[in-house]
Amino acid sequence: MNKNIAVIRGDGIGPEIVNQALLILDKVAELYGHDFTYTDVDMGGCAIDKWGDPLPQEMLDKCINSDSVLLGAVGGPKWNDVPGDKRPEKGLLRLRAGMGVYSNNRPAKIWPQLAGASPLKPAIVDKGIDFIIVRELIGGIYFGDHRTEEMNGQKVAIDELRYSESEIERIGRIGFETARKRGHKLCSVEKSNVLDSSRLWKAVMHRLASEYPDVELSDMLVDNCAMQIVKDPSQFDVVVTENMFGDILSDEASMITGSIGMIPSSSLGSSSCGLYEPIHGSAPDIAGMDLANPIGTILSAAMMLRYSFNMPAEADCIENAVSKVLDAGYRTADIFPADTEEAAVCHRVGCTEMGALILKNIVKG
Ligand code: NAD
Repeated sequence: MNKNIAVIRGDGIGPEIVNQALLILDKVAELYGHDFTYTDVDMGGCAIDKWGDPLPQEMLDKCINSDSVLLGAVGGPKWNDVPGDKRPEKGLLRLRAGMGVYSNNRPAKIWPQLAGASPLKPAIVDKGIDFIIVRELIGGIYFGDHRTEEMNGQKVAIDELRYSESEIERIGRIGFETARKRGHKLCSVEKSNVLDSSRLWKAVMHRLASEYPDVELSDMLVDNCAMQIVKDPSQFDVVVTENMFGDILSDEASMITGSIGMIPSSSLGSSSCGLYEPIHGSAPDIAGMDLANPIGTILSAAMMLRYSFNMPAEADCIENAVSKVLDAGYRTADIFPADTEEAAVCHRVGCTEMGALILKNIVKG
């Protein structure tokens, strides 16, 4: 199969981790007889430096016209003082909106080899952590009007939060469909005791529930959900929530699985062209030091093969390679065990070596 992948290396550790993922995609293509071509796209701080714009239209078009997009990460302190509408993260928001990817799916799953890296007590981890957060991605407060006005002699900042029924319904359906393919449990998270947008969210979810009688729907307030994720994550199967709540909860969920560096994500809309990226940022504190964990990006490439290209065997072969390398005790710094007994049987490796080890373990299943 021929596939054209738009590649956004971005800023900070972005180029390091994406380069490892591309080597792995090349190997998979060679083994399974595919032809992956890569179109470089500038986005984020590097695009600001080159073009004065975090995502020029020409770059967005390259993404929209691709079969899918693989992204590292964007942003960093160098661009902290750039005005709001020109910030690196604006490129990301424009990319998501331009591609129409309204559903962000983030698995929170603990790899058994990394159980010791979870900050939770073993008694909680042993009950299992395996759920998905389905986050609405192109609506809500991040996409509302943002302005700061002078009122009564002081500045007042206003961020608008709005959701329409149709925006809620399409993400709700993704939540129900995802639950159908897993444990048939969907938890809808909102703040309906305070927000109108959340009351509408809850009403739409309950209307949809009658179409999915095989899925058990529950409601949870977002503050309680933040607490339950650390108290007993085993209770969750699929969580569906709005943009900002999902942003925060999915970082929390990633941390309990060991490291933010391990977690991939997919963002999909109504076509098969998806956006695939690790959930972490550009980690400027470790950029260029060969310390980054490339696994979140490599697993994002595997998700691309599975969900956009319908290549489950190829995706399995990447995930199996990651598992074998973890079995053999190889760890980047972020997942290196603190426990001295466990550390004695592990090998600390950098980003390049971790990528090379995974590459070596890519075999056709
Ligand atoms: P971050 O995710 O970049 O880093 C948080 C911490 O996790 C840091 O200590 C970092 O070293 C570590 N970390 C992150 N990814 C890692 C990896 N793969 N391997 C090992 N350690 C890793 O979050 P931040 O520091 O809040 O943000 C840094 C920049 O990234 C900011 O400019 C922010 O706006 C941007 N950002 C971009 C995206 C994106 O491109 N999708 C997402 C979040 C933040």
